Amino acid sequence: MADTKKVLEILRAMGRTIANEKDYLTRLDQPIGDSDHGINLDRGFQAVEQKLPGMEGKDVGSILKDVGMTLVSTVGGASGPLYGSAFMKAGAAAAGKTEVDAEGFLAMLDAAVEAVKKRGRAQVEEATMLDAMCPSLEAMKEARARGEGAGPMLEAGVKAAWAGAEHTKDLVATKGRASYVGERGLGHQDPGATSYAYLLETIAHCIQE
Ligand code: ADP
Ligand code: MG
Ligand code: MG
Repeated sequence: MADTKKVLEILRAMGRTIANEKDYLTRLDQPIGDSDHGINLDRGFQAVEQKLPGMEGKDVGSILKDVGMTLVSTVGGASGPLYGSAFMKAGAAAAGKTEVDAEGFLAMLDAAVEAVKKRGRAQVEEATMLDAMCPSLEAMKEARARGEGAGPMLEAGVKAAWAGAEHTKDLVATKGRASYVGERGLGHQDPGATSYAYLLETIAHCIQE
């Protein structure tokens, strides 16, 4: 599915996506948060981009660990430690690997989901990034169980991630800043679930190429 070169290409593309969607993600964070989600992530992925040249030749595990640590130290807010630990744990699941296959990718996402659940003390249906992460992972596992290859598997995951992000409009947030607005948050899409859908979509695009 992806060698280390592809992984670096995906990380660079993630930075471009976040830069493109920075204003939109920040706007989503306005009514239910503090208007900084896109700004936070863009700062983090710009820092990651600076580091990419130095990551060439390293294994996938080391690369993603480094990305995670960079995000933790630059993104800030709630999403910094959450995305940071997600990347770090995904990296730990890919320790020493120079090639990621579909099974390996699902194992990495399992680790990322567990990291966010643990760090955020959160579950699905609390209107967070987990509402994009969990259903998309389930959809990809189901696609895999049906015998689909990496491309269709990712396509199913992206579709489910967007549906999950959309579904956060129907949920009252019980975690993070959005929990402060309670029912007034209804009708608003969670910025973190949205950024996750963009990141997974970016992976899918890069793999499809
Ligand atoms: P902050 O809210 O601190 O300004 P960001 O705006 O960067 O941080 O990120 C907000 C996003 O982080 C939310 O949209 C949500 O998806 C996610 N989030 C916040 N708290 C939690 C949590 N406890 N568990 C999982 N995700 C969370
Ligand atoms: Mg915010
Ligand atoms: Mg903030």
